[in-house]
Amino acid sequence: MKILLLFSTLVAANCSEQLFVGDQVLRIVASNKEQLTLLRVLGEQEELQVDFWHHPTSPGHPADLRVPFSSLQAVKLFLESNRIPYRIMIKDVQELLDEEKKNMTKPRRTERSTSTFDFASYHTMEEIYNWMDTLVQDHPSLVSKLQIGQSYENRPLYVLKFSTGGSNRPAIWLDTGIHSREWITQATGVWTANKIAEEYGQDPSVTAILDTMDIFLEIIANPDGFAFTHSSNRLWRKTRSLNAGSRCVGVDPNRNWDAGFGGSGSSSNPCSEIYRGPHPHSEREVKAIVDFILSHGNVKSAISIHSYSQMLLFPYGYKTTPAAHHQELNELAKKAVSDLAAVYGTKYTYGSVVDTIYPADGTATDWAYDQGVKYSFTMELRDTGRYGFLLPSNQILPTATETWPALLDIMVHVLEHPY
Ligand SMILES: [Zn+2]
Repeated sequence: MKILLLFSTLVAANCSEQLFVGDQVLRIVASNKEQLTLLRVLGEQEELQVDFWHHPTSPGHPADLRVPFSSLQAVKLFLESNRIPYRIMIKDVQELLDEEKKNMTKPRRTERSTSTFDFASYHTMEEIYNWMDTLVQDHPSLVSKLQIGQSYENRPLYVLKFSTGGSNRPAIWLDTGIHSREWITQATGVWTANKIAEEYGQDPSVTAILDTMDIFLEIIANPDGFAFTHSSNRLWRKTRSLNAGSRCVGVDPNRNWDAGFGGSGSSSNPCSEIYRGPHPHSEREVKAIVDFILSHGNVKSAISIHSYSQMLLFPYGYKTTPAAHHQELNELAKKAVSDLAAVYGTKYTYGSVVDTIYPADGTATDWAYDQGVKYSFTMELRDTGRYGFLLPSNQILPTATETWPALLDIMVHVLEHPY
């Protein structure tokens, strides 16, 4: 009764926003295959409403699981009775959310120009879209804004184009925020867009890249999800499309691509966080990128930016066969993570998706690679789980700053290895 009362008070406080009071994130390390299977079964118990922030991969590797307050006792009992070791990574999710909100609503200077925009804060979609227009105004001969489609809820899908001219030049594709709760990625996208614009004509590498190639950057690749993380549920990952015959909403836009679609590294259950959707490219947000890359026809590199876990990954995820260019991609990834680490010492792992994390099918990176985009990467930004998706805003600038040399390495490599 007490809990019920508390719950209704919290709901009354803000009737639209989901709260995570007392929710914990547990780091769980299965020590053998049986425990791993038990963990997966645990994740599928719908009544527990648990959410893997980092899925179980193999024995000895940590998985991160958010457990609602109401399921904590049952989950901990389950783990303890099966002798599966765990520790508490985040002891109250809501505390971090409150902190994040406080930092977002602090009084800010006016943000009408790119020189006063606060890159060290998280922003709403409206703020980011306004800022994009300012960036275009400030660099009219370099930056333009394209609309490549509309989201399920009819929001525009905007892409920034960085180009010094020419027609259909070789191109680099970058996207951030396809998983909406990975806020550090959209923030890094904003910073990176500004960096590209500012460094053209200053940094010889950026100048050389843009004298030959175009860069396309979609900062909010899942706008419906992103809007929902601000209005209703900060931890929303998927799209917001309705699923026929299910009360659960949304598709995982990184299991929806036509590359090994429907394998064991995704789910057919609409309630799953890795629900692949009814068919490949069912999601407008995915289809828009597919159509853009195919109709462009000259995209040489596609880099999809996610968080968290500090990894630089390349194909494949849907099969164990190494990619034809495995050696070259591996060398390039090695250089990129080494240059990233040189900035603040942040350590990344790298390799193919299937070797480094787990089988994942229907991903953007595998799809792009199978379409002939040789330099296809997935990046997982900070951190390794201390804050997970709730990375404090004071880490935005360090994260974006260290990511930049890694992105530059890839772009320079593409420039120097035309194909
Ligand atoms: Zn992601």
